Amino acid sequence: MNFYLRNVKSFNDILQQETFTKNDLIRLLKAEGEDRQSLFKAAEQRKAEVVGNKVYYRGLVEFSNICSKDCLYCGIRKSNKNVFRYEAEDKEILDACGFAWRNRFGSVVLQSGEISSPAFVDRVDRLLKGIKELSRGELGITLSCGEQSRETYMRWRESGAHRFLLRIESSNHDLYKKIHPNNDHHSFEKRLEALQLLKECDYQVGTGVMIGLPFQTMENLAEDLLFFKKVDVDMVGMGPFIEHEDTPLYEHRNGLMSKQDRFDLALRMVATLRLLAPDINIAAATALQAIDPAGREKALKIGANVIMPNLTPCEYRKEYQLYEDKPCLDEDAELCRNCLEARIEMAGSEIAYGEWGDSPHYFKRKKATES
Ligand code: SAH
Ligand code: SF4
Repeated sequence: MNFYLRNVKSFNDILQQETFTKNDLIRLLKAEGEDRQSLFKAAEQRKAEVVGNKVYYRGLVEFSNICSKDCLYCGIRKSNKNVFRYEAEDKEILDACGFAWRNRFGSVVLQSGEISSPAFVDRVDRLLKGIKELSRGELGITLSCGEQSRETYMRWRESGAHRFLLRIESSNHDLYKKIHPNNDHHSFEKRLEALQLLKECDYQVGTGVMIGLPFQTMENLAEDLLFFKKVDVDMVGMGPFIEHEDTPLYEHRNGLMSKQDRFDLALRMVATLRLLAPDINIAAATALQAIDPAGREKALKIGANVIMPNLTPCEYRKEYQLYEDKPCLDEDAELCRNCLEARIEMAGSEIAYGEWGDSPHYFKRKKATES
């Protein structure tokens, strides 16, 4: 065997490793044909070994689309005048959470645009207390309400939120700048700082990226995966970027990968992340479903273990269009639940009704810092 051949790892060698270099990750992300099948098989096995075969529900309530930001990719960005702005009423939000509790969803996610006014902060606080009360403390609560001050994060933590999702969108500084307005209100450093604050306030911290963004390279995505590891996050939610007509990034639509390619790459990202960080929670992103009706179930099969059924009151759903073709726009919560359950079980997973399904990584991380 010549020198060159001896030093090139086979794809299966990489799959056996516990740590990965950037080049290893790139090879996994580019896997096709048989290699792709081996990657998916390895991730499926690793998931079963480390976090088991259970799928955790997080009932998603998109309670307001009012946003102070202008992210260049997002359909509800502040400057989009074609959106009717809403704030669901407390009662509507609590009713949706009551539905989640009665149906033993285990947890809910409250998501919104980014607002930091005292009235907004108070409101979220009140909702957190209301959800805890109506569910006798049984519903777990995740927030996804953007960058906030330490005081706000602390206050919400004390009122009952214990997980927070804040995607970094891209861990590459230059790419981040290309997909956000160039001003202080859209600062990469502040986003990083917010992730750190969330950790310090003792949340289970989730982040993530969009896959298939304009200007994004395979190397960027491999670095995103290493970023999740470096920041030591407990949860990741990542899905394909989907262009929205009313946003500045729409002008780059012709330079994008096909939607199917973005979808396939997102699945390889999920599987690769399961190998790289086996004990975290990984969400099957809703955007997968916008491309393939069975997209989320496919992600659950090859590494994801969390799904967020949409419980947003129907009348608001069409106004919370972060991207085009967002699914389940007119299904009511009950209908969604039944069809989802059947699809998940068909994909071979078990739904963990009534469990919080916390990230095992969070407890390991805490133990390590305490000792
Ligand atoms: N305002 C909060 C939460 C709501 S936005 C925040 O930004 O953190 C939730 C996620 O939607 C964002 O993190 C982003 O990753 C995703 N998103 C927005 N526009 C998108 C698009 N065009 N395609 C795919 N995902 C998108
Ligand atoms: Fe607002 Fe979040 Fe959309 Fe950015 S991604 S415009 S912060 S809702």
